[in-house]
Amino acid sequence: MTDSAKIVVVGGGAGGLELVSKLGKRLGRRGKANVILVDRDSTHIWKPLLHEIATGVLDQSLDETAYQGHGAQYGYNYQLGTMAGLNRDKREVKLAPLRDDDGNEVLGERRIGYDYLVLSLGSISNDFGTPGVADHCYFLDSARQAEIFRRAMLNKFLRYGHGDTHNHPRLSIAIVGGGATGVELSAELLGATQMLASYGYSSIGRDQLNVHLIEAAPRLLPALPERIGRAIYKQLDAMGIEIHLETKITHADHYGFDTAGGGRIDADLTVWAAGVRGADVLTQLGLSTAPNNRIKVNQTLQSVDDKRIFAIGDCAACPQGDDDKTVPPRAQAAHQMASTLYTNIRAELAGKPLKPFHYRDFGSLISLSHFDAVGNLMASASKGHLFVEGRLAKWFYVSLYRMHQRTIHGTFNTLLKMIVDRLNSVLRPNLKLH
Ligand SMILES: Cc1cc2nc3c(=O)[nH]c(=O)nc-3n(C[C@H](O)[C@H](O)[C@H](O)COP(=O)(O)OP(=O)(O)OC[C@H]3O[C@@H](n4cnc5c(N)ncnc54)[C@H](O)[C@@H]3O)c2cc1C
Repeated sequence: MTDSAKIVVVGGGAGGLELVSKLGKRLGRRGKANVILVDRDSTHIWKPLLHEIATGVLDQSLDETAYQGHGAQYGYNYQLGTMAGLNRDKREVKLAPLRDDDGNEVLGERRIGYDYLVLSLGSISNDFGTPGVADHCYFLDSARQAEIFRRAMLNKFLRYGHGDTHNHPRLSIAIVGGGATGVELSAELLGATQMLASYGYSSIGRDQLNVHLIEAAPRLLPALPERIGRAIYKQLDAMGIEIHLETKITHADHYGFDTAGGGRIDADLTVWAAGVRGADVLTQLGLSTAPNNRIKVNQTLQSVDDKRIFAIGDCAACPQGDDDKTVPPRAQAAHQMASTLYTNIRAELAGKPLKPFHYRDFGSLISLSHFDAVGNLMASASKGHLFVEGRLAKWFYVSLYRMHQRTIHGTFNTLLKMIVDRLNSVLRPNLKLH
């Protein structure tokens, strides 16, 4: 085994943070490898929680993990920085200059050498170049963006509550994308509206809020089994959400969207939660990419161009099965890839063969705020999926996050966190109001 192999992981999200936690514990702490995590943010939030941060149901400051402290505890080194390039000949990752909130340079451009590089930069929404979207819509690709939306939402509720309605009788929020993010956000907005009224923050009731959920496909949740899409449609429809199927957005402006059919959806706030693609930097690394900017990897999660570079999670295009399909961009896929890569990196360092990654779909769960949850679970290979809803579905939904916490914090600390969460639910408001 190489004693001091330098393993650099870029992106400490659902996949990357799990990987460095395991590598750090096993190799970093024992001095068998120098494990380095690079992330553009200083804290980690599990991405499937972003719609809860966007509505204030979850307080980011109570749930985030600070990389610096976590790294010290788990045996990896953390570097704050944004990956901006790669020199494969010199085996160096290039980090962009680090600036403070006012744009002043804190650190100049840096280079970090590696023996093995893991790309786990996740994904961003895809506006498909639709005019006006980048300038006028809110996005939920990071905790920072979710927080910006939350503040804008609170201000709109305040204004409408004080009668400043711009001549619109109802506050209107339009979300593009009927996938998990759009669906969960739309339900969460209704839950938040109820809570804002109950805390006296705003007098707006659910009957004064219009939530539009806009999807180009003929059904909601097009990536999930049809039965889940149908069940969710029924629930959201009953909750009063205006669902626009087969509706393609052609233009966004400050006051809403134009649709391909010549229609118009006016809104006080617009959110773009459609499509998934890798960040542009992934196409500038000199590595082969698949459509939507994902790094092409083979079954061992190694780049098809460079055996020392691995990619996992949303930014990896990993073949699945015999046809052209690739592993879907899901938290469970990132988790499974992190697990396989942990084994493979140890095998590589020991000079042993790497094992192929096989994605196992354990099902999908969609949470509709405190109203309901719906999904399917893999019963067995022969019986296929089991449809679940209600409390059972909610329990499985929450347990996905607990599994992630267990991987990055250990079982005991996760139990402590569960107790703290319980206490906070009694001691603190159920919605972040400031
Ligand atoms: C609102 C919402 C709900 C979702 N719900 C579900 C769900 O219920 N179930 C499910 O399976 N999936 C869900 N997903 C998808 C899931 O979150 C992703 O598939 C998963 O997080 C991907 O993990 P990852 O490690 O690839 O990337 P991420 O978890 O996105 O992590 C990427 C990391 O890379 C960092 N980074 C990015 N660019 C750079 C750079 N240039 N330099 C340095 N660091 C960088 C980011 O700061 C981040 O820490 C949801 C997503 C959203 C947005």
